[in-house]
Amino acid sequence: MSSTMTHQETATPLTRLSEDEQLFRSTVRQFAAENITPKVREMDEQQHMDEALIRQLFELGLMGIEIPAEYGGAGGTFFEAILAVEEVSAADPSVGVLVDVQNTLSVNALLRWGTDEQKRRILPKMAADTVGAYALSEAGSGSDAFALQTRAEKRGDGYALNGQKLWITNAKEAGVFIVFATVDPSAGYKGITAFIVEKGMSGFSLGKKEDKLGIRASSTCELIFDNCVVPTANVLGEVGKGYKIAIETLNEGRIGIGAQMLGLAQGAWNAAAKYAKERKQFGRLIAEFQGVQFQIAEMATEIEAARLMVYNAARLKDAGLSFVKEAAMAKYFTSMVAERTASLSLEIFGGYGFVKDYPAEKFFRDSKIGKIYEGTSNMQLATIGKMLLG
Ligand SMILES: Cc1cc2nc3c(=O)[nH]c(=O)nc-3n(C[C@H](O)[C@H](O)[C@H](O)COP(=O)(O)OP(=O)(O)OC[C@H]3O[C@@H](n4cnc5c(N)ncnc54)[C@H](O)[C@@H]3O)c2cc1C
Repeated sequence: MSSTMTHQETATPLTRLSEDEQLFRSTVRQFAAENITPKVREMDEQQHMDEALIRQLFELGLMGIEIPAEYGGAGGTFFEAILAVEEVSAADPSVGVLVDVQNTLSVNALLRWGTDEQKRRILPKMAADTVGAYALSEAGSGSDAFALQTRAEKRGDGYALNGQKLWITNAKEAGVFIVFATVDPSAGYKGITAFIVEKGMSGFSLGKKEDKLGIRASSTCELIFDNCVVPTANVLGEVGKGYKIAIETLNEGRIGIGAQMLGLAQGAWNAAAKYAKERKQFGRLIAEFQGVQFQIAEMATEIEAARLMVYNAARLKDAGLSFVKEAAMAKYFTSMVAERTASLSLEIFGGYGFVKDYPAEKFFRDSKIGKIYEGTSNMQLATIGKMLLG
């Protein structure tokens, strides 16, 4: 430290939370323990997100964390959104992704790219009771997202959307969808345009709901557009600039998936550490065996590293500094940590880890998605490589 540096100028440790952040985190943690944990197993088995729980998430302000108070939101930071996703995911990563897609993708896109009129019209609903979804992927375009085929053709004072979206998180619960379509397939990515589509618009319906390995309470559905005319007032950002919205929103959203996987790893660790202090073999608690202690310590160390990466990326974003490489690294690393931690946690439960009476097997199933959505691990490595090597 330079001798002229004052105490105030000293950088704060990454994991040190402000008083507001501490209060926020403990509120969300308590809420999750009391209101999410008791519902986890049933929601997973029923493949259903409890409606009363969604209402509670709105009431607590967790569905509009960054929405300014003038639109009815909590007026919080991106970092707080990350804390919320982490804490909720430690209880249930399905609820974690509901909160994540709402805040870091859907609301985020509207805050950043919406006109004043769109914000006044849409954001108060999203702060109060309306779930958002983000629809980019299609059957033939996942990693190569800009190969999307959904068409948007000028029709009167609007655009007629035709095509299908696949894998859309929150689709069953959502009232507002950010949908990417092309106004001109011959223009390549420069034809891609973002639209605000609302539930109930004529020509818009939900298709198949996926039956998934993990995060089963989170709905993942196909969207079908059959001459769905969306008014020009619902074009988000500029026509032909949807690719920029998609890339930039996902750059931020990735930190959210990092937070989801971080929370998942912490939840799996908490369960394993608790069990190790309850289960006896050879006349001793299994936590007394050095082999088990090392496993618990190794998992905790990896979780700490993942947390530093996620928090750093989020704090860089809030500070207006570049964060894209750090966000990709955080998602890439945290999803590996989540998978390893969930697997080891399951093993610490022995046979009980393999059955549904304990949370370990669900965390294990849920962990796989981290390496897949919002850019597969290979795509994160491609981003990191491009940024390092040009
Ligand atoms: C549960 C769930 C929820 C989802 N939610 C949403 C959502 O809300 N909104 C949305 O728009 N999408 C969503 N998705 C879609 C998700 O983002 C895509 O599945 C993901 O981007 C991968 O695309 P893909 O499935 O087409 O795989 P592909 O792109 O076909 O990839 C297949 C394999 O090839 C590899 N690969 C592809 N291209 C390259 C390359 N250039 N270099 C190296 N390897 C490569 C991939 O890494 C992967 O291993 C969701 C998916 C799931 C499963």
